[in-house]
Amino acid sequence: MGWTIGVLAVQGAFAEHTKILSQLSVNCLEIRKKEDLITDHIDGIILPGGESTVMGKLLVELDMLDLLKQMINDGLPVFGTCAGLILLAKRIVNDSHVYLGTMDIVAKRNAYGRQLGSFHTVADFKGAGEVPMTFIRAPYIEVTANKVEVLAEVDDHIVAARQDNMLVTAFHPELTNDTRLHEYFLAM
Ligand code: GLN
Repeated sequence: MGWTIGVLAVQGAFAEHTKILSQLSVNCLEIRKKEDLITDHIDGIILPGGESTVMGKLLVELDMLDLLKQMINDGLPVFGTCAGLILLAKRIVNDSHVYLGTMDIVAKRNAYGRQLGSFHTVADFKGAGEVPMTFIRAPYIEVTANKVEVLAEVDDHIVAARQDNMLVTAFHPELTNDTRLHEYFLAM
């Protein structure tokens, strides 16, 4: 397809995203430092799962937070999975931090509690049909603004949404063999 997609690779499950993108014959660029965002052209970026607090702290330390925020506000397509969703949220109910804060969603971290730390389900994803969903100490979305389109719900909680150039899932599409959500993102 000739596109290059950046995958934020400072912490977390970035390798799994790279693998899926390769399966889809998309060029992949692991973003580890600010220069990677400046010198190479990317058509979109994936913010993987991991630990949002650690990733957020590293984005500040590596001086990447403001630039990335600006690129997203300027329209760079972004796909945030799990911790990536938390990084994009305008507010986090149980964390006083705001990281990129570009998306009009309120997220709850570790929202399923200790008992339901990890689980797997299959649910409808608007525009893609039934998709497998793997949740690992996942957040969910508590509130969205009008301009946010809800794409999937599990047990009455919003687990996927889109706002313009921003796509988020509370689950990990990169941990299944299903490439449809990455294809959905590429179509953006
Ligand atoms: N619990 C993590 C956080 O709050 C997210 C977990 C994940 O990305 N799998 O950042």
